[in-house]
Amino acid sequence: MHVLVLGAGVTGVTTAWSLLQAGFEVDVVDRQPAAALETSFANGGQISISHPEPWSSPAAPLIALRSIGRAEAPLRLRIGLDPARWRWLAAFLRECLPARHRRNAHAIAALAVHSGERLRALREATGIEYEARTRGILHLQYTAREVTEARARLGLLAAHGIRAEVVSPQQCVDIDPALATVMPRLAGGLHAPDDESGNARLFTSALAELAAARGARFHYETTVEAIDTAGERVLGARVRDAAGKRVLAADAVVVCLGSFGPALVAPLGERLPIYPVKGYSVTAPVIDAARAPIVSLTDESRRLVASRLGETLRVAGTAEICGFDASPDASRTAPLLAWIDDLFPGACDTTQAEPWAGLRPCTPSYVPVIGRGRVDGLWFNTGHGSLGWTLSCGSADIIAALIAGRPSPVPAFPLRGDTP
Ligand SMILES: Cc1cc2nc3c(=O)[nH]c(=O)nc-3n(C[C@H](O)[C@H](O)[C@H](O)COP(=O)(O)OP(=O)(O)OC[C@H]3O[C@@H](n4cnc5c(N)ncnc54)[C@H](O)[C@@H]3O)c2cc1C
Repeated sequence: MHVLVLGAGVTGVTTAWSLLQAGFEVDVVDRQPAAALETSFANGGQISISHPEPWSSPAAPLIALRSIGRAEAPLRLRIGLDPARWRWLAAFLRECLPARHRRNAHAIAALAVHSGERLRALREATGIEYEARTRGILHLQYTAREVTEARARLGLLAAHGIRAEVVSPQQCVDIDPALATVMPRLAGGLHAPDDESGNARLFTSALAELAAARGARFHYETTVEAIDTAGERVLGARVRDAAGKRVLAADAVVVCLGSFGPALVAPLGERLPIYPVKGYSVTAPVIDAARAPIVSLTDESRRLVASRLGETLRVAGTAEICGFDASPDASRTAPLLAWIDDLFPGACDTTQAEPWAGLRPCTPSYVPVIGRGRVDGLWFNTGHGSLGWTLSCGSADIIAALIAGRPSPVPAFPLRGDTP
């Protein structure tokens, strides 16, 4: 059976890899000249199994209200006329209800645990290198209230076998000595020793090369214009490249197009509830390794994450709901640079930092869309939001199993069509 994967970001490439492992013939199409050049390019680097709680939470509406009019606020919402944005926001508000938030967090946690296992297995089987660090993630808390909230999360994590403990400021420094200068400001931390970090772009491009060596065909600089169907069956995709337009025929098509999937499948009557939530990162060269963090960090109150990637420190965060413009904005990356200089003075040369912005493909529930479409042979593995790097190996494993006619390896995860 021949499967066409649309999109060569981290979800498309892991999908292609899992399909090859399952014995399928695989083609991958992407409009860019190489893999991982859009949202998978410079994300926060965290394999954050210990943070399955969706952004659509009971606290989110208040956070959004508090952000209004504050230029440096981590969340920015642009009022516009795009009906898709308003539909998405209304659905997001519904997903903030406590029961829905809990249900979504459990679904994401189940997938995250499986994904961590698949990533480790893939690394062991292939020896793939991507600046991986397996020192866990430390969530920083500055107030007693944040520590109490962290403690309240332990039950959810324990229910999924995710190891995590609340630690004191001194223990934070024991875990990462670079935090010594910050210690007086800390109230505590949540340490998840099994979490990881790594460079998603390096991983994706290395995995694409491994997949190509095992027979997958990659069609870069090739834009998908439509999915081709006849009656109730998928025939392939209509694409355009430098040579012109053509059809890539396949028995099955998997949509992994990030924020651009909904427009492509809408003519088939498919409504993908995905909207772009823009985020930023800066990647600064480390100039004093002793002062730079060695453990991946999550700054809960400032909503930032930081990961050491090779000889650099990557800091990522902020959320803007403002459409499809992915260009960086210096006023939004400035707080990320200030954070580095504030917490780790002298560690990095922030004047040399590379700014970047990307569009997280977010569903209102933050649960990705995995499963079948309405017509035979159409499949989805998309909408991974702020956790695409964390969840990609697991969701690829699910979609490959489903296409092979096997049950999902994560029974607790709601497949497309099953979500109420
Ligand atoms: C600032 C920021 C920080 C983040 N930090 C983390 C983190 O620490 N941990 C984590 O787990 N996740 C993180 N994420 C989320 C993660 O990066 C995304 O969920 C993930 O990259 C999405 O991968 P994807 O393959 O679905 O999308 P993409 O990487 O965008 O891939 C989609 C591909 O489809 C292609 N495409 C689109 N339309 C067409 C078309 N018509 N024809 C052909 N090709 C097309 C694009 O070129 C692209 O290559 C972060 C995201 C951002 C923005």
